[in-house]
Amino acid sequence: MARLGGDEFVILADETQTPAQAADFVDKLLIQLNAPIQLNEHAIHPAASIGISIYPDDGDTAEDLIRHADIAMYSAKAAGSNQWSFFKQQMTERAAVRLRTEASLHDALKNNEFLLYFQPKFDLNTHKVVGCEALIRWQKDGRLISPMSFIPVAEETGIIIPIGRWVIEQSCKVIREWQRKYNYAIPIAVNVASQQFADASLVPDIKQLAIRYQISPELLEVEITETSLMNDVEQAIIKLEQLKTAGFGIAVDDFGTGYSSLSYLRHLPITTMKIDRAFVSDLPKDSAIASTILMLGQQLDLSIVAEGIENDEQLQWLKNNNCVIGQGFFFSEPLPLEEFEQQFISAKTAEILHI
Ligand code: C2E
Ligand code: MG
Ligand code: MG
Repeated sequence: MARLGGDEFVILADETQTPAQAADFVDKLLIQLNAPIQLNEHAIHPAASIGISIYPDDGDTAEDLIRHADIAMYSAKAAGSNQWSFFKQQMTERAAVRLRTEASLHDALKNNEFLLYFQPKFDLNTHKVVGCEALIRWQKDGRLISPMSFIPVAEETGIIIPIGRWVIEQSCKVIREWQRKYNYAIPIAVNVASQQFADASLVPDIKQLAIRYQISPELLEVEITETSLMNDVEQAIIKLEQLKTAGFGIAVDDFGTGYSSLSYLRHLPITTMKIDRAFVSDLPKDSAIASTILMLGQQLDLSIVAEGIENDEQLQWLKNNNCVIGQGFFFSEPLPLEEFEQQFISAKTAEILHI
C-alpha cells in the first residue's frame, strides 16, 4: 500500500486473480475501514470510495493503472459514500468532461456566470403560492447549463462551498428586495449540497447572512437530500437543531430515494419532507410509496411537498390523499427572477388561476 497524497491511497493487490476476487477484497476492506474509531469523546465513522483497475485490461503501465483507478474512484464517489467501482473505458470521456467543467467552474463565480431561477410552491387546495425554490443555472457561452451537470463536479472539487454560499446570499438579497419593493415576501428554499452541509461554516454563514440582510429566518428554508442527512446522522442532528432553533425551515429533499432508517428520521428536527419526483410521476397507478410517505409525514407532523407534478391526475390523487403543497411543471416551470417576481410577488397574494 502507498499513500498517493492527501487522503488518497493505492493498493497493489498482486495476489488477486479475477475481478470477482478484487470485488470481494474491496468489500472486506470497506467493512474494516468503516469500523468506528473513538477519538477522545468523539466516535468517528470513516468512509471511503474505491476505484479498481485491472492489469493488463485497464493498462500495462503503473501510470495508466493508477490514472484509471482514480477515474473509477471518482465514479464510485459520485454514486455515494462507501462505494467501489471497476474502471470502464467510457469513464475516460466523462473524466475529460469533468476536467473541462472543473477548470471553467473556477472562474464562473468571479465572472458572475451563475443565476437563480425560481419555481413556485402551491397550496393544492387554494392554489395560492406559499413559497418557492431557488434553482441555480450556469450561463456559459450563451447557454444555460443545468445544475445536474455541474453540481456533482462542484462537489467533487470543493467549489460547491463558495457556490452554495453565493446561492444563500443571493436568496437573502432577493427576499430583501421583495420586501423593499412590495412590502411582501414568500419563503425561498435553497438546496444545500452534501459537502456543503458537512462544512462547519454552513450554520454560522446562514445565520450571519440572515442578520446582514435583515431576513426573518422563517423566510429561508434549506433543502437537504435524504442521503446527505444519513451520511453522518449525529452531526446532522446537531446542525439541524441549530438551524431550527434559529427559526429556519428545514426540508428533506428527494425523500424516498435514500435509505433513511425510520428510527433516525424521528430524531431529525425537520419541518418538511419533499416526495421525490420519481414517486409523483408514478401516480395514480403506482401509489404505494407516495401513500407511505404521506402517512409518515402525518404521523411525524411534518409538512409534505410533492415535487414534479406534471398533470391533473397526479394533482387529483395528491389532493385526495391529503397532500397540501405541490410543485411542478403543471403549475409553473422554474422562472428567471424578473418573471417570477412579476407573476407571483408583485400582486402580493399570488394564486394560480389556470388550473
Ligand atoms: P431538486 O432540488 O429536487 O429540484 C427539483 C428539480 O426538478 C429542478 O431541476 C426542477 O426544475 C425540476 N422540476 C420541477 N418540477 C418538475 C416537473 O414537473 N417535471 C420535471 N421533469 N422536473 C421538474 P433543476 O433545476 O434542473 O435542478 C436539479 C437538481 O440540481 C435539484 O434537484 C438540486 O438537487 C440541484 N440543484 C439545483 N440548484 C441547486 C443549488 O443552488 N445548489 C445545490 N447544491 N444543488 C442545486
Ligand atoms: Mg430541492
Ligand atoms: Mg428534489
